[in-house]
Amino acid sequence: MLSESQLAVIKQTVPILQEHGETLTRHFYQRMFRENPEVLAFFNPAHQHAGTQQRALAGAICAYAQHIETPELLADAVELIAQKHASLQILAEHYPIVGANLLAAIQEVLGEGATDAVIDAWGAAYGVLADILIAREGQIYADQQKTHGWNGFRRFVVARREPASDNIVSFYLRPEDGEPLHAALPGQYLTLRVAPDGSEPVMRNYSLSGQPDPDLYRISVKKEAGNGAGQPAGVVSAYLHEQIGEGDVVELAPPCGEFTLQPAPAGEVPLVLIAGGVGITPLLAMLHGALAQQAGREVILIQCARNSAERPFVEELNSLQGMHDNLRCHVRLSEASEEDEGFDSEGFVDGELLDELVGNRRAQYYFCGPAPMMRIVNQLLVGRGVDAADIHFEFFGPKEEMAA
Ligand code: FAD
Repeated sequence: MLSESQLAVIKQTVPILQEHGETLTRHFYQRMFRENPEVLAFFNPAHQHAGTQQRALAGAICAYAQHIETPELLADAVELIAQKHASLQILAEHYPIVGANLLAAIQEVLGEGATDAVIDAWGAAYGVLADILIAREGQIYADQQKTHGWNGFRRFVVARREPASDNIVSFYLRPEDGEPLHAALPGQYLTLRVAPDGSEPVMRNYSLSGQPDPDLYRISVKKEAGNGAGQPAGVVSAYLHEQIGEGDVVELAPPCGEFTLQPAPAGEVPLVLIAGGVGITPLLAMLHGALAQQAGREVILIQCARNSAERPFVEELNSLQGMHDNLRCHVRLSEASEEDEGFDSEGFVDGELLDELVGNRRAQYYFCGPAPMMRIVNQLLVGRGVDAADIHFEFFGPKEEMAA
């Protein structure tokens, strides 16, 4: 609990955070990586380089200060962070490291503005938030142990790899210990840990893209090729594509994530899945889940890709469509040429397409794709008056990128 005077100080610092938040968080990360290099493994240098991690943290601190007296409004954001932390195996012992570096960074950036009262109030506020996250993450670890039978990293053998498109490969992963797997919720992701070319281990999240199978998990990875002009190839995706094959071992942490298929509401409420490129992975798991568990419910999949060569899971989707009259797939290509085939329309997702496929009925929307697509779809749905409770999305990077 914060005292009245601590609350007042936190609220007073909101304008300062709005102005200097990113300077503060940039300084904070540099300081923490210098003073506590042991935490480096939890962070992706690509997000640091792009500045998205610093922006994300600045936004989160600001939001926390603004809602310091109404923390319940931040429940969704706290859940997202707790799931992400649990996916990376963040533990209670890591919080004091972040807290100490954050307070020191406030002192160093604000100089004289960082009075004893400011440091005291932010120390207390950080402590409250850390306690909430530690408690929730503890619960997630306990649930994972109960549901999936393990915590931390477990060794998996690549049983099979197969192309899903020109730039996406699926990996089928079998636990090395031979123990059966328990179903994840459709939409959840795993954390994969590898040490490309003998480097320090690195972690990345990958959504489960298949249907529950007691023997195998399936993930599907797009190769981030880089462009040779200052943008290097993605560390893990290139390693998986180029060097990981049948019989190789990778480590996985158990399923996590709050972007999961909700129960179907009463009445006829279609499920609309909007996928961009590799963003189809969690939606494909949801599609399998909905067809199996929400029998007869109308499902509309809008699959967006640049061209038909980069369109993943063509055969799997054709086969599902052949088996389920309640499923309608619409393929929209943004860069179609004369060589492309098997698509329904061209361009980006727009109001006309939603008018045609959904009309003005209530529907539940789930979407995942590249940042520009996410922005367009989110604005479109909000603009059409879709209730916030019917809008669900996953973004494969720090959420702030979506708002950029
Ligand atoms: P990184 O090394 O992390 O690089 C990322 C990008 O930054 C690359 O495009 C790279 O070219 C660029 N970059 C790196 N360094 C620099 C630099 N110095 N200058 C300029 N550019 C730079 N991905 C999938 O393919 N399938 C999934 O199902 C999937 N599910 C996900 C689920 C969640 C919840 C999340 C958060 C992410 C998911 N991702 C998924 C993304 C995945 O976790 C990785 O981010 C992705 O594979 C890229 O990792 P990487 O190591 O290959 O690239």
